[in-house]
Amino acid sequence: MLQLDLKTTVFLASIMSALMSVVLLSAYHSFPRSIRGIGQWVAGSLVLVVAPMLFWLRDIAPAWISIVLANGLLLAAVALWTLGTQAFYGRPPARRPAAIVVVAATLAVTWFVYGRESYEARVTIVTFAMGIFFGAQALLVLRHGGRDFSARFFGFLLAVQTLVVLARGMASLFAGLGGQTLFAANDVIQTVYLGSYTLMDLGLSVAFMLVITRRLHVELDILSRTDPLTQLLNRRALYDAGQRELAHMAEHGGEMALLLIDLDHFKHINDSLGHAEGDRVLTAFSAMLKRELPAGAHPGRFGGEEFLVLLPRTTMAAALALAERLRATSSRFFGRQVADLTISIGVASVDKAEHRLDGAVRRADLALYRAKSAGRNRVEAVMEAAA
Ligand code: GH3
Ligand code: MG
Ligand code: MG
Repeated sequence: MLQLDLKTTVFLASIMSALMSVVLLSAYHSFPRSIRGIGQWVAGSLVLVVAPMLFWLRDIAPAWISIVLANGLLLAAVALWTLGTQAFYGRPPARRPAAIVVVAATLAVTWFVYGRESYEARVTIVTFAMGIFFGAQALLVLRHGGRDFSARFFGFLLAVQTLVVLARGMASLFAGLGGQTLFAANDVIQTVYLGSYTLMDLGLSVAFMLVITRRLHVELDILSRTDPLTQLLNRRALYDAGQRELAHMAEHGGEMALLLIDLDHFKHINDSLGHAEGDRVLTAFSAMLKRELPAGAHPGRFGGEEFLVLLPRTTMAAALALAERLRATSSRFFGRQVADLTISIGVASVDKAEHRLDGAVRRADLALYRAKSAGRNRVEAVMEAAA
């Protein structure tokens, strides 16, 4: 059996919590506020710097410090983590139930110190209360965590920790294996429990760091691909989507078309109604575009008041029909809010032999130019041969 000095182990737990608090605190300061729950994890970890110290004072400090307060803080820390995990996954924080569990368990512990002294009863109460918190978090991650490595790792550690504390509680409750004192030597269950507690504190903090870092990565990725005003794809993301669709076409065959849409006389809107109103029209138009396009289409903002729509698995005839429908919908749509705003659309198809979007975008631009020259509020197409 691995020999662990349990007092040293608990002391190390405190140091590890202090270090993880620093790491989590720096994440709290540098991560965007949209990533919730980090603050509660910092608070929980800070409390876990203090709690082990109090356990460590067993036999030195009075029982209300080294037993009642120590266990109360331990549970409060795990409750804070649970609230943090709930916030992170966008669930409503169960503050009141968490507080009830912490307070009720602490009161019960107090009773089994001063009312009827029982170490087994205290262990059972505290471990089951912790089991509730770890189990609730494990279920939350299972349900809302997704399938990436960080979430699986986090969920796995939470599940293991739930099992460990419940096993410890069961042992204490049924088998009379409670052990006589907290730091009893050669007590296998106690060694596993305290050892795993120490490592889990570190493991869970690291897992939570992985999970929030992963979320940060996803959020930054979305930001880097999204046009901030319209929430459509930006030009870079459009070209990325185009490359993916071209690769798919090269492998599976099929056709692709694209629409280049430009709002007519948009400068007039800005000049007459102001730039802010112009922005509002761009946003409203983008929302309409998203609604009207078939699933699988990639709409993006190509520049200023110009939009590019990639239409994978779409024939030229279908793209022309869609463009005509968009043009008609737009004049009805804008007619209601802004008099006389219309759109012109250039349509082009992507040839199977093409490896880049550039040629098709050039043809769509040429078609758009023709639509503008022919009086605007029109759809024009340029066929490959003609280009
Ligand atoms: P045309 O029918 O030939 O397309 O005429 P137009 O006025 O739409 O085209 P032009 O290229 O002359 O002007 C485009 C205008 O779009 C000018 C620019 O100020 C405006 N614009 C570009 N981006 C934005 C934006 O983000 N917000 C607002 N409000 N206006 C923008
Ligand atoms: Mg325009
Ligand atoms: Mg333009």
